[in-house]
Amino acid sequence: MEDSRGRTVGAGYVNPASGILVRLLTRGSALPSPDWAKGQFQRALQRRKALMGDVEDLRLVHSEADGLPGLVVERIGGYAVVSPDTLGAERVLLPWLLEEIEAAAPRGVILRAVAPIRQREGLAPRLEMLRGEAPEGPVIAREGDIRYAVDLFGGQKTGHYFDQRENRALCRSLGEGRRVLDVFSYTGGFAIAAALGGAGSVTAIESSGEAAAALSGNAALNGVTVEVREENAFDLLRQLVRDGERYDLVVLDPPPFARGRDHLEAALRAYKEINLRAMRLLAPGGYLLTASCSHAVSLGEFLAVIEDAAGDAGVPLTRLAVRGPAPDHPIRVEVPESDYLHLLALQRD
Ligand code: SAH
Repeated sequence: MEDSRGRTVGAGYVNPASGILVRLLTRGSALPSPDWAKGQFQRALQRRKALMGDVEDLRLVHSEADGLPGLVVERIGGYAVVSPDTLGAERVLLPWLLEEIEAAAPRGVILRAVAPIRQREGLAPRLEMLRGEAPEGPVIAREGDIRYAVDLFGGQKTGHYFDQRENRALCRSLGEGRRVLDVFSYTGGFAIAAALGGAGSVTAIESSGEAAAALSGNAALNGVTVEVREENAFDLLRQLVRDGERYDLVVLDPPPFARGRDHLEAALRAYKEINLRAMRLLAPGGYLLTASCSHAVSLGEFLAVIEDAAGDAGVPLTRLAVRGPAPDHPIRVEVPESDYLHLLALQRD
């Protein structure tokens, strides 16, 4: 690709059917090749090893942030789960990297290409084995000594959010002896971490029946007790406030309320609502771990919402930490949207 003055910018792949016509792979005169892709992959593995040590279950490739646009690769239970979101990632990067991926995950390579975003690239959903035999049931994702069962061949709702690994560890250390409420719990990432940290009680709220069932299974797998409430978090939070309930640790990890800037206003209102209610549920000295994973919501905007909610709730809070995703989800400095996950740790007076 050249700029308007005829200078070479770099080389990338093109999809005329996509809203993003070109995705750059290399800068200057260097050309992408299978060797170049292997180099990118190895660098992604090395930086994880440097920052995280020998972790078995993690995200190995995080798209643009690892210099492989459109391609996500996770390793779970010895299997690689490959998710190409773009035509170029599926047709070019994946074939170039299949051998490397197989070497990193010898039990098998699963193509799990079901993200709705593929439609914008003109791609149909695909779910198939590329190498090895399909797992017979759920496989186990480990986070330290915590085990989560993950159905790699399941329906829409499957997988594990590795990005919150370190924030779950924070939840675990804050949870000891506490009454914990984990809202938007999915398969229990935070709830089980808190229970293993010695929480006095753990209640999880999750509206999806499939996820709630997996959550109960994960609690049993880890030998802990979690009360699972399969309900709409907005309604239940309101009711818990009305009933005068109190918790010593509340976790809010909602789905991305803003998929794009055009949903920003509504998203900010939704963040404010759940945070305001969660703050009202805090016992004196109680902690709030509150997250946003909306690409369209900046840290500044999220902080402003929290300040606003605290003001309206009349709850005095100290901010203890501002955190992002674990190092297997690196952030590309020149792509602000890749800085999508923010988690604040707050404490009530
Ligand atoms: N905290 C989880 C990840 C949460 S993902 C972890 O650590 O793994 C967001 C979850 O919120 C999804 O499981 C989704 O089913 C659930 N959810 C979405 N809307 C909801 C609502 N209104 N009430 C309760 N749960 C909801």
